[in-house]
Amino acid sequence: MNVRSQTASVFHLDKCIGCHTCSIACKNIWTDRRGAEYMWWNNVETKPGTGYPTLWEDQEKYRGGWEKAGEQLRLKMGGRAATLGNIFHNPSLPTMDDYYEPWTYRYNELFNAPEGSDQPAARPVSMVSGRDMKIEAGPNWDDDLGGSNVYAANDPTFKTLSEKEQQQLFALERMVFFYLPRICNHCANAGCVAACPSGAIYKRGEDGIVLISQDKCRGWRMCVSGCPYKKTYYAWSSGKSEKCILCYPRQECGEAPACFHSCVGRIRYLGVLLYDADRIEEMAKRPDAELVAAQREMILNPHDPEVVAAAKKNGIDDKVIAAAQNSPVYRFVKEWKLALPLHPEFRTLPMLFYVPPLLPVLSTSGEGMTRLGDDFFSSLEQARLPIRYLAGLFSAGNEAEVEAVYRKLMAVRLQRRAETVDDLPEAETRKVFESAGISPEQADAVYRLTSLAGFKERMAVPPMQREQGIEATEDPQTRKGEGGFGTRRPPKRRW
Ligand code: SF4
Ligand code: SF4
Repeated sequence: MNVRSQTASVFHLDKCIGCHTCSIACKNIWTDRRGAEYMWWNNVETKPGTGYPTLWEDQEKYRGGWEKAGEQLRLKMGGRAATLGNIFHNPSLPTMDDYYEPWTYRYNELFNAPEGSDQPAARPVSMVSGRDMKIEAGPNWDDDLGGSNVYAANDPTFKTLSEKEQQQLFALERMVFFYLPRICNHCANAGCVAACPSGAIYKRGEDGIVLISQDKCRGWRMCVSGCPYKKTYYAWSSGKSEKCILCYPRQECGEAPACFHSCVGRIRYLGVLLYDADRIEEMAKRPDAELVAAQREMILNPHDPEVVAAAKKNGIDDKVIAAAQNSPVYRFVKEWKLALPLHPEFRTLPMLFYVPPLLPVLSTSGEGMTRLGDDFFSSLEQARLPIRYLAGLFSAGNEAEVEAVYRKLMAVRLQRRAETVDDLPEAETRKVFESAGISPEQADAVYRLTSLAGFKERMAVPPMQREQGIEATEDPQTRKGEGGFGTRRPPKRRW
Protein backbone atom coordinates (compact mmCIF):
# COMPACT_ATOMS: atom_id res chain seq x y z
CA MET A 1 0.00 0.00 0.00
CA ASN A 2 1.50 3.31 -1.13
CA VAL A 3 -0.58 5.89 0.75
CA ARG A 4 -0.70 9.42 -0.66
CA SER A 5 -2.71 12.38 0.51
CA GLN A 6 -4.85 14.43 -1.85
CA THR A 7 -6.67 17.68 -1.29
CA ALA A 8 -10.01 16.88 -2.92
CA SER A 9 -13.36 18.60 -3.38
CA VAL A 10 -17.07 18.00 -3.67
CA PHE A 11 -19.48 20.34 -5.48
CA HIS A 12 -23.13 19.84 -4.53
CA LEU A 13 -24.98 20.73 -7.74
CA ASP A 14 -28.41 21.02 -6.17
CA LYS A 15 -27.15 24.10 -4.37
CA CYS A 16 -25.47 25.95 -7.26
CA ILE A 17 -27.45 29.04 -8.28
CA GLY A 18 -25.26 29.90 -11.26
CA CYS A 19 -24.27 33.29 -9.88
CA HIS A 20 -20.63 33.04 -11.12
CA THR A 21 -19.28 34.66 -7.94
CA CYS A 22 -16.73 31.83 -7.81
CA SER A 23 -15.44 32.61 -11.32
CA ILE A 24 -15.09 36.30 -10.55
CA ALA A 25 -13.30 35.68 -7.23
CA CYS A 26 -10.78 33.50 -9.07
CA LYS A 27 -10.42 35.92 -11.98
CA ASN A 28 -9.69 38.87 -9.72
CA ILE A 29 -6.96 37.04 -7.84
CA TRP A 30 -5.19 35.00 -10.50
CA THR A 31 -5.94 35.84 -14.12
CA ASP A 32 -6.62 39.56 -14.44
CA ARG A 33 -3.47 40.27 -16.42
CA ARG A 34 -2.08 40.34 -19.98
CA GLY A 35 -2.14 36.97 -21.66
CA ALA A 36 -4.64 35.57 -19.18
CA GLU A 37 -7.72 37.51 -20.30
CA TYR A 38 -9.50 34.49 -21.72
CA MET A 39 -8.54 32.14 -18.87
CA TRP A 40 -11.29 30.99 -16.54
CA TRP A 41 -9.62 28.62 -14.10
CA ASN A 42 -13.06 28.41 -12.52
CA ASN A 43 -16.03 28.59 -14.86
CA VAL A 44 -19.70 27.72 -14.51
CA GLU A 45 -21.55 26.03 -17.37
CA THR A 46 -25.21 25.48 -18.01
CA LYS A 47 -26.04 21.85 -18.74
CA PRO A 48 -27.16 20.47 -21.14
CA GLY A 49 -24.93 22.78 -23.16
CA THR A 50 -21.67 22.99 -25.03
CA GLY A 51 -19.48 24.40 -22.25
CA TYR A 52 -16.19 26.27 -22.29
CA PRO A 53 -14.18 25.94 -24.46
CA THR A 54 -16.97 24.91 -26.81
CA LEU A 55 -17.50 21.13 -26.90
CA TRP A 56 -14.67 20.42 -24.45
CA GLU A 57 -16.25 17.04 -23.72
CA ASP A 58 -15.81 15.87 -27.32
CA GLN A 59 -12.55 13.90 -27.24
CA GLU A 60 -12.82 12.95 -30.89
CA LYS A 61 -12.26 16.66 -31.52
CA TYR A 62 -9.71 17.43 -28.78
CA ARG A 63 -8.20 13.99 -28.11
CA GLY A 64 -7.63 14.64 -24.39
CA GLY A 65 -7.36 12.13 -21.56
CA TRP A 66 -6.53 8.43 -21.74
CA GLU A 67 -7.78 5.45 -23.72
CA LYS A 68 -7.29 1.72 -23.40
CA ALA A 69 -5.26 0.10 -26.15
CA GLY A 70 -5.53 -3.62 -25.41
CA GLU A 71 -4.20 -4.01 -21.89
CA GLN A 72 -2.30 -0.75 -22.06
CA LEU A 73 -3.38 2.72 -21.05
CA ARG A 74 -2.20 5.45 -23.40
CA LEU A 75 -2.84 9.13 -23.95
CA LYS A 76 -5.55 9.64 -26.53
CA MET A 77 -3.41 12.31 -28.20
CA GLY A 78 -0.81 9.62 -28.95
CA GLY A 79 2.52 8.58 -27.47
CA ARG A 80 5.85 10.39 -27.37
CA ALA A 81 6.39 10.10 -31.15
CA ALA A 82 2.99 11.64 -31.92
CA THR A 83 3.68 14.41 -29.39
CA LEU A 84 6.98 15.24 -31.09
CA GLY A 85 5.31 15.11 -34.51
CA ASN A 86 2.71 17.64 -33.37
CA ILE A 87 5.04 19.85 -31.43
CA PHE A 88 4.98 22.73 -33.93
CA HIS A 89 1.46 22.16 -35.16
CA ASN A 90 -1.04 20.39 -32.94
CA PRO A 91 -4.38 19.95 -34.75
CA SER A 92 -6.23 18.98 -31.53
CA LEU A 93 -5.62 22.26 -29.70
CA PRO A 94 -8.61 24.49 -29.05
CA THR A 95 -8.38 27.72 -31.04
CA MET A 96 -9.45 31.22 -30.13
CA ASP A 97 -12.83 30.47 -31.75
CA ASP A 98 -13.32 27.56 -29.34
CA TYR A 99 -12.63 29.89 -26.40
CA TYR A 100 -13.60 33.44 -27.43
CA GLU A 101 -11.92 36.67 -28.41
CA PRO A 102 -11.50 38.58 -25.15
CA TRP A 103 -12.77 42.14 -25.23
CA THR A 104 -13.05 45.30 -23.21
CA TYR A 105 -14.96 48.53 -23.81
CA ARG A 106 -13.98 52.07 -24.77
CA TYR A 107 -15.15 53.38 -21.44
CA ASN A 108 -13.86 56.88 -22.17
CA GLU A 109 -16.49 57.25 -24.88
CA LEU A 110 -19.06 56.58 -22.21
CA PHE A 111 -17.61 58.71 -19.42
CA ASN A 112 -16.63 61.67 -21.60
CA ALA A 113 -19.63 61.68 -23.94
CA PRO A 114 -21.01 65.21 -24.43
CA GLU A 115 -24.53 65.90 -23.35
CA GLY A 116 -26.98 64.84 -26.06
CA SER A 117 -30.35 63.32 -26.73
CA ASP A 118 -28.89 59.80 -27.26
CA GLN A 119 -27.83 57.48 -24.48
CA PRO A 120 -24.02 57.14 -24.76
CA ALA A 121 -22.62 53.64 -25.16
CA ALA A 122 -19.20 52.07 -24.63
CA ARG A 123 -18.12 50.18 -27.77
CA PRO A 124 -16.49 46.76 -27.41
CA VAL A 125 -12.87 46.46 -28.55
CA SER A 126 -10.78 43.33 -28.93
CA MET A 127 -8.14 42.81 -26.23
CA VAL A 128 -6.09 40.94 -28.84
CA SER A 129 -6.06 43.34 -31.79
CA GLY A 130 -7.36 46.53 -30.12
CA ARG A 131 -9.87 46.89 -32.97
CA ASP A 132 -13.64 47.30 -32.74
CA MET A 133 -15.34 43.94 -32.61
CA LYS A 134 -18.73 42.28 -32.61
CA ILE A 135 -19.10 40.06 -29.55
CA GLU A 136 -20.16 36.61 -30.73
CA ALA A 137 -18.99 34.27 -27.99
CA GLY A 138 -18.00 34.34 -24.34
CA PRO A 139 -16.98 32.05 -21.51
CA ASN A 140 -20.58 31.47 -20.50
CA TRP A 141 -22.32 32.11 -23.77
CA ASP A 142 -25.00 29.44 -23.39
CA ASP A 143 -25.85 30.56 -19.86
CA ASP A 144 -29.45 29.58 -19.06
CA LEU A 145 -30.04 28.76 -22.72
CA GLY A 146 -28.09 25.55 -22.13
CA GLY A 147 -31.28 23.59 -21.70
CA SER A 148 -32.75 24.86 -24.96
CA ASN A 149 -32.26 23.25 -28.33
CA VAL A 150 -30.06 26.20 -29.32
CA TYR A 151 -27.14 24.78 -27.35
CA ALA A 152 -28.18 21.49 -25.79
CA ALA A 153 -28.59 19.92 -29.22
CA ASN A 154 -24.81 20.14 -29.63
CA ASP A 155 -23.93 18.80 -26.16
CA PRO A 156 -21.76 15.66 -26.64
CA THR A 157 -23.38 13.83 -23.67
CA PHE A 158 -26.85 14.72 -24.94
CA LYS A 159 -26.08 12.70 -28.06
CA THR A 160 -26.05 9.51 -25.97
CA LEU A 161 -29.83 9.87 -25.48
CA SER A 162 -32.40 8.21 -27.71
CA GLU A 163 -34.34 10.39 -30.14
CA LYS A 164 -37.43 10.11 -27.95
CA GLU A 165 -35.51 11.20 -24.87
CA GLN A 166 -34.01 14.11 -26.78
CA GLN A 167 -37.45 15.25 -27.90
CA GLN A 168 -38.79 14.88 -24.38
CA LEU A 169 -36.03 17.07 -23.05
CA PHE A 170 -37.01 19.89 -25.41
CA ALA A 171 -40.75 19.73 -24.70
CA LEU A 172 -41.36 23.24 -23.43
CA GLU A 173 -43.08 22.22 -20.22
CA ARG A 174 -40.26 19.76 -19.44
CA MET A 175 -37.40 22.13 -20.24
CA VAL A 176 -34.68 21.68 -17.67
CA PHE A 177 -31.13 22.77 -17.00
CA PHE A 178 -28.66 22.92 -14.15
CA TYR A 179 -25.30 24.54 -13.46
CA LEU A 180 -21.97 22.80 -13.56
CA PRO A 181 -19.10 24.77 -11.98
CA ARG A 182 -15.70 23.46 -13.09
CA ILE A 183 -12.12 23.87 -11.90
CA CYS A 184 -9.03 21.70 -12.48
CA ASN A 185 -9.75 18.29 -10.97
CA HIS A 186 -6.18 17.78 -9.71
CA CYS A 187 -6.46 14.27 -11.12
CA ALA A 188 -4.64 11.26 -9.66
CA ASN A 189 -3.78 10.10 -13.19
CA ALA A 190 -3.46 13.55 -14.75
CA GLY A 191 -3.34 13.62 -18.56
CA CYS A 192 -1.66 17.04 -18.49
CA VAL A 193 1.28 15.74 -16.42
CA ALA A 194 1.81 12.74 -18.71
CA ALA A 195 1.62 14.88 -21.86
CA CYS A 196 4.18 17.56 -20.89
CA PRO A 197 7.42 16.98 -22.83
CA SER A 198 9.36 19.38 -20.58
CA GLY A 199 8.44 17.78 -17.25
CA ALA A 200 7.13 21.18 -16.15
CA ILE A 201 3.88 19.90 -14.63
CA TYR A 202 4.03 18.08 -11.35
CA LYS A 203 1.70 16.79 -8.66
CA ARG A 204 2.78 18.06 -5.26
CA GLY A 205 3.70 15.20 -2.99
CA GLU A 206 2.09 16.60 0.14
CA ASP A 207 -1.40 17.36 -1.20
CA GLY A 208 -1.64 16.20 -4.82
CA ILE A 209 -2.21 19.72 -6.17
CA VAL A 210 -1.15 19.81 -9.85
CA LEU A 211 1.08 22.77 -10.70
CA ILE A 212 3.04 24.05 -13.71
CA SER A 213 6.58 25.25 -13.05
CA GLN A 214 6.81 28.60 -14.81
CA ASP A 215 10.59 28.20 -14.94
CA LYS A 216 10.51 24.85 -16.73
CA CYS A 217 7.51 25.37 -19.04
CA ARG A 218 8.53 25.86 -22.68
CA GLY A 219 5.02 26.60 -23.94
CA TRP A 220 4.58 23.41 -26.02
CA ARG A 221 0.92 23.34 -24.95
CA MET A 222 0.75 19.55 -24.84
CA CYS A 223 -0.87 19.90 -21.41
CA VAL A 224 -3.72 21.84 -23.02
CA SER A 225 -4.20 18.92 -25.38
CA GLY A 226 -3.68 16.17 -22.79
CA CYS A 227 -6.24 17.56 -20.32
CA PRO A 228 -9.68 16.30 -21.36
CA TYR A 229 -11.31 18.95 -19.16
CA LYS A 230 -9.42 21.75 -20.93
CA LYS A 231 -8.27 23.20 -17.65
CA THR A 232 -4.77 24.27 -18.64
CA TYR A 233 -4.43 27.47 -20.63
CA TYR A 234 -1.66 29.01 -22.69
CA ALA A 235 -0.66 32.57 -21.71
CA TRP A 236 0.34 34.34 -24.92
CA SER A 237 2.22 37.12 -23.14
CA SER A 238 4.61 34.93 -21.13
CA GLY A 239 4.69 31.96 -23.56
CA LYS A 240 3.90 29.60 -20.65
CA SER A 241 0.93 27.48 -19.71
CA GLU A 242 -1.06 28.13 -16.55
CA LYS A 243 -3.79 26.42 -14.63
CA CYS A 244 -5.83 26.36 -11.43
CA ILE A 245 -3.49 26.01 -8.46
CA LEU A 246 -6.31 25.23 -6.00
CA CYS A 247 -5.20 28.46 -4.26
CA TYR A 248 -2.35 26.61 -2.56
CA PRO A 249 -0.90 29.85 -1.13
CA ARG A 250 -4.25 30.48 0.55
CA GLN A 251 -4.47 26.91 1.78
CA GLU A 252 -1.03 27.20 3.32
CA CYS A 253 -2.37 30.08 5.40
CA GLY A 254 -5.29 27.90 6.48
CA GLU A 255 -7.68 29.66 4.06
CA ALA A 256 -9.99 27.90 1.62
CA PRO A 257 -9.48 28.55 -2.13
CA ALA A 258 -11.08 31.82 -3.22
CA CYS A 259 -13.83 30.20 -5.31
CA PHE A 260 -14.75 27.97 -2.37
CA HIS A 261 -14.65 30.84 0.08
CA SER A 262 -16.83 33.14 -2.01
CA CYS A 263 -19.37 30.52 -3.15
CA VAL A 264 -22.78 32.00 -2.53
CA GLY A 265 -24.66 28.70 -2.70
CA ARG A 266 -22.18 27.05 -0.27
CA ILE A 267 -22.03 24.16 -2.70
CA ARG A 268 -18.30 23.52 -2.17
CA TYR A 269 -16.56 21.16 0.22
CA LEU A 270 -12.82 20.72 0.63
CA GLY A 271 -10.98 17.97 2.44
CA VAL A 272 -8.20 15.42 2.37
CA LEU A 273 -8.48 11.95 0.86
CA LEU A 274 -5.91 9.21 1.42
CA TYR A 275 -5.52 6.88 -1.56
CA ASP A 276 -3.39 3.98 -2.67
CA ALA A 277 -1.09 5.27 -5.43
CA ASP A 278 0.01 1.72 -6.32
CA ARG A 279 -3.47 1.07 -7.68
CA ILE A 280 -3.78 4.10 -9.98
CA GLU A 281 -2.99 2.28 -13.21
CA GLU A 282 -5.05 -0.79 -12.38
CA MET A 283 -8.06 1.37 -11.50
CA ALA A 284 -7.78 3.60 -14.56
CA LYS A 285 -7.83 0.49 -16.77
CA ARG A 286 -11.12 -0.89 -15.45
CA PRO A 287 -14.07 -1.12 -17.87
CA ASP A 288 -16.16 2.05 -18.18
CA ALA A 289 -19.03 0.77 -16.03
CA GLU A 290 -16.66 0.02 -13.12
CA LEU A 291 -14.69 3.25 -13.10
CA VAL A 292 -16.68 5.01 -10.35
CA ALA A 293 -16.46 1.97 -8.09
CA ALA A 294 -12.74 1.61 -8.89
CA GLN A 295 -12.02 5.16 -7.86
CA ARG A 296 -13.89 4.65 -4.61
CA GLU A 297 -11.92 1.45 -4.03
CA MET A 298 -8.67 3.36 -4.43
CA ILE A 299 -9.66 5.79 -1.67
CA LEU A 300 -8.58 4.44 1.72
CA ASN A 301 -10.32 4.55 5.06
CA PRO A 302 -8.38 7.12 7.16
CA HIS A 303 -9.69 5.52 10.37
CA ASP A 304 -8.18 2.12 9.51
CA PRO A 305 -5.04 1.65 11.72
CA GLU A 306 -3.24 -0.13 8.87
CA VAL A 307 -3.85 2.82 6.53
CA VAL A 308 -2.74 5.28 9.23
CA ALA A 309 0.47 3.31 9.82
CA ALA A 310 1.23 3.13 6.07
CA ALA A 311 0.48 6.85 5.72
CA LYS A 312 2.91 7.70 8.53
CA LYS A 313 5.53 5.47 6.94
CA ASN A 314 5.14 7.50 3.74
CA GLY A 315 5.80 10.70 5.67
CA ILE A 316 2.22 11.97 5.83
CA ASP A 317 1.94 14.33 8.77
CA ASP A 318 -0.33 13.54 11.74
CA LYS A 319 -2.24 16.76 11.14
CA VAL A 320 -2.97 15.74 7.54
CA ILE A 321 -4.17 12.32 8.70
CA ALA A 322 -6.42 14.03 11.24
CA ALA A 323 -7.76 16.27 8.44
CA ALA A 324 -8.46 13.15 6.33
CA GLN A 325 -10.42 11.63 9.24
CA ASN A 326 -12.42 14.80 9.47
CA SER A 327 -12.91 15.21 5.73
CA PRO A 328 -16.37 16.11 4.40
CA VAL A 329 -15.18 14.90 0.99
CA TYR A 330 -14.51 11.42 2.37
CA ARG A 331 -18.03 11.28 3.75
CA PHE A 332 -19.69 12.36 0.50
CA VAL A 333 -17.54 10.23 -1.80
CA LYS A 334 -16.73 7.05 0.08
CA GLU A 335 -19.00 6.72 3.08
CA TRP A 336 -22.27 7.89 1.57
CA LYS A 337 -21.39 7.29 -2.12
CA LEU A 338 -23.26 10.45 -3.06
CA ALA A 339 -20.57 12.30 -5.02
CA LEU A 340 -19.38 11.10 -8.44
CA PRO A 341 -16.47 12.11 -10.68
CA LEU A 342 -17.08 14.10 -13.88
CA HIS A 343 -16.55 12.00 -17.02
CA PRO A 344 -14.65 9.14 -15.37
CA GLU A 345 -14.28 7.58 -18.84
CA PHE A 346 -11.46 10.06 -19.51
CA ARG A 347 -9.55 7.85 -17.02
CA THR A 348 -7.67 10.67 -15.32
CA LEU A 349 -9.19 9.73 -11.92
CA PRO A 350 -10.38 13.28 -11.18
CA MET A 351 -10.31 14.35 -7.54
CA LEU A 352 -13.23 16.76 -7.76
CA PHE A 353 -16.56 15.00 -7.23
CA TYR A 354 -20.13 16.15 -7.86
CA VAL A 355 -23.39 15.42 -6.08
CA PRO A 356 -25.75 15.28 -9.09
CA PRO A 357 -28.69 17.68 -9.03
CA LEU A 358 -31.87 16.11 -7.73
CA LEU A 359 -34.13 19.08 -8.29
CA PRO A 360 -34.93 18.69 -11.98
CA VAL A 361 -35.40 14.99 -11.41
CA LEU A 362 -37.72 15.05 -8.45
CA SER A 363 -39.95 17.86 -9.59
CA THR A 364 -42.01 15.68 -11.94
CA SER A 365 -42.57 12.95 -9.42
CA GLY A 366 -44.42 15.37 -7.17
CA GLU A 367 -47.99 14.29 -7.89
CA GLY A 368 -49.30 12.46 -4.87
CA MET A 369 -46.62 11.90 -2.27
CA THR A 370 -48.97 9.32 -0.80
CA ARG A 371 -48.10 6.84 -3.53
CA LEU A 372 -44.52 7.23 -2.49
CA GLY A 373 -43.61 3.69 -1.53
CA ASP A 374 -44.86 2.07 -4.75
CA ASP A 375 -43.88 4.92 -6.97
CA PHE A 376 -40.44 5.44 -5.57
CA PHE A 377 -38.52 3.85 -8.43
CA SER A 378 -40.86 4.55 -11.32
CA SER A 379 -40.59 8.24 -10.50
CA LEU A 380 -36.91 8.01 -11.40
CA GLU A 381 -37.83 6.59 -14.78
CA GLN A 382 -40.12 9.54 -15.44
CA ALA A 383 -37.42 12.02 -14.54
CA ARG A 384 -37.43 15.29 -16.45
CA LEU A 385 -33.71 15.03 -17.01
CA PRO A 386 -33.05 11.49 -18.26
CA ILE A 387 -30.90 9.50 -15.86
CA ARG A 388 -28.92 8.42 -18.89
CA TYR A 389 -27.80 12.00 -19.46
CA LEU A 390 -26.52 12.28 -15.89
CA ALA A 391 -24.88 8.86 -16.19
CA GLY A 392 -23.12 10.13 -19.33
CA LEU A 393 -21.72 12.99 -17.26
CA PHE A 394 -20.91 11.34 -13.95
CA SER A 395 -20.55 7.59 -14.25
CA ALA A 396 -19.33 6.73 -17.77
CA GLY A 397 -22.84 5.63 -18.69
CA ASN A 398 -23.47 3.40 -15.65
CA GLU A 399 -27.06 4.39 -14.81
CA ALA A 400 -27.15 2.21 -11.71
CA GLU A 401 -24.54 4.47 -10.02
CA VAL A 402 -26.65 7.60 -10.61
CA GLU A 403 -29.87 5.87 -9.58
CA ALA A 404 -28.25 4.74 -6.34
CA VAL A 405 -27.31 8.36 -5.57
CA TYR A 406 -30.84 9.57 -6.33
CA ARG A 407 -32.46 6.96 -4.12
CA LYS A 408 -30.37 8.22 -1.22
CA LEU A 409 -31.00 11.87 -1.98
CA MET A 410 -34.72 11.23 -2.22
CA ALA A 411 -34.66 9.31 1.05
CA VAL A 412 -33.01 12.33 2.73
CA ARG A 413 -35.70 14.64 1.37
CA LEU A 414 -38.49 12.37 2.44
CA GLN A 415 -37.01 12.05 5.89
CA ARG A 416 -37.00 15.83 6.22
CA ARG A 417 -40.60 15.94 5.00
CA ALA A 418 -41.59 13.27 7.49
CA GLU A 419 -39.91 15.24 10.26
CA THR A 420 -41.13 18.72 9.40
CA VAL A 421 -44.55 18.17 7.81
CA ASP A 422 -45.26 14.77 9.35
CA ASP A 423 -47.65 13.65 6.59
CA LEU A 424 -45.97 10.42 5.48
CA PRO A 425 -46.84 6.99 6.84
CA GLU A 426 -43.88 5.62 8.77
CA ALA A 427 -44.03 2.28 6.95
CA GLU A 428 -43.51 4.05 3.62
CA THR A 429 -40.50 6.05 4.76
CA ARG A 430 -38.97 2.90 6.23
CA LYS A 431 -39.48 1.15 2.90
CA VAL A 432 -37.76 4.01 1.10
CA PHE A 433 -34.78 3.89 3.46
CA GLU A 434 -34.43 0.16 2.95
CA SER A 435 -34.51 0.41 -0.83
CA ALA A 436 -32.07 3.34 -0.82
CA GLY A 437 -29.59 1.54 1.44
CA ILE A 438 -29.24 4.44 3.84
CA SER A 439 -29.98 4.59 7.54
CA PRO A 440 -32.06 7.40 9.11
CA GLU A 441 -28.92 8.46 11.04
CA GLN A 442 -26.94 8.70 7.83
CA ALA A 443 -29.75 10.61 6.14
CA ASP A 444 -29.69 13.05 9.03
CA ALA A 445 -25.91 13.46 8.69
CA VAL A 446 -26.30 14.07 4.91
CA TYR A 447 -28.96 16.68 5.60
CA ARG A 448 -26.77 18.43 8.17
CA LEU A 449 -23.65 18.53 6.00
CA THR A 450 -25.70 19.63 2.99
CA SER A 451 -27.82 22.30 4.61
CA LEU A 452 -26.56 23.39 7.99
CA ALA A 453 -22.80 22.89 8.03
CA GLY A 454 -20.78 26.01 8.78
CA PHE A 455 -17.63 27.07 6.97
CA LYS A 456 -15.21 25.05 9.12
CA GLU A 457 -17.18 21.85 8.59
CA ARG A 458 -17.28 22.34 4.84
CA MET A 459 -13.59 23.24 4.54
CA ALA A 460 -11.17 20.96 6.35
CA VAL A 461 -7.90 22.56 5.24
CA PRO A 462 -4.84 20.84 6.67
CA PRO A 463 -2.12 23.19 7.92
CA MET A 464 0.80 23.32 5.46
CA GLN A 465 3.17 26.19 5.17
CA ARG A 466 5.96 25.04 2.90
CA GLU A 467 5.75 27.57 0.07
CA GLN A 468 4.69 30.29 2.45
CA GLY A 469 7.79 29.57 4.56
CA ILE A 470 10.00 30.00 1.49
CA GLU A 471 8.35 33.21 0.42
CA ALA A 472 7.83 34.70 3.86
CA THR A 473 10.27 37.50 3.18
CA GLU A 474 8.54 38.64 -0.03
CA ASP A 475 5.35 40.56 -0.56
CA PRO A 476 3.32 38.59 -3.10
CA GLN A 477 1.09 41.60 -3.74
CA THR A 478 3.94 43.31 -5.60
CA ARG A 479 3.94 40.48 -8.18
CA LYS A 480 0.22 40.52 -8.87
CA GLY A 481 0.41 42.49 -12.13
CA GLU A 482 3.36 40.47 -13.56
CA GLY A 483 3.13 36.73 -13.24
CA GLY A 484 0.50 36.30 -10.56
CA PHE A 485 0.91 36.04 -6.80
CA GLY A 486 3.86 34.00 -5.60
CA THR A 487 5.94 34.26 -8.78
CA ARG A 488 9.37 35.20 -7.61
CA ARG A 489 10.81 35.78 -11.11
CA PRO A 490 8.56 37.13 -13.86
CA PRO A 491 8.55 34.43 -16.59
CA LYS A 492 10.58 35.36 -19.67
CA ARG A 493 9.95 34.29 -23.24
CA ARG A 494 12.89 32.36 -24.57
CA TRP A 495 12.56 33.24 -28.23
S1 SF4 B 1 -8.22 18.46 -14.81
FE1 SF4 B 1 -6.34 19.42 -14.03
S2 SF4 B 1 -5.03 17.73 -13.29
FE2 SF4 B 1 -6.69 16.81 -14.54
S3 SF4 B 1 -5.72 16.61 -16.55
FE3 SF4 B 1 -6.79 18.60 -16.53
S4 SF4 B 1 -5.29 20.14 -15.85
FE4 SF4 B 1 -4.45 18.10 -15.41
S1 SF4 C 1 -20.42 30.94 -6.43
FE1 SF4 C 1 -21.21 28.91 -5.84
S2 SF4 C 1 -23.41 29.10 -6.22
FE2 SF4 C 1 -22.48 30.77 -7.37
S3 SF4 C 1 -22.07 29.87 -9.41
FE3 SF4 C 1 -20.22 29.55 -8.21
S4 SF4 C 1 -20.45 27.49 -7.42
FE4 SF4 C 1 -22.51 28.15 -8.05
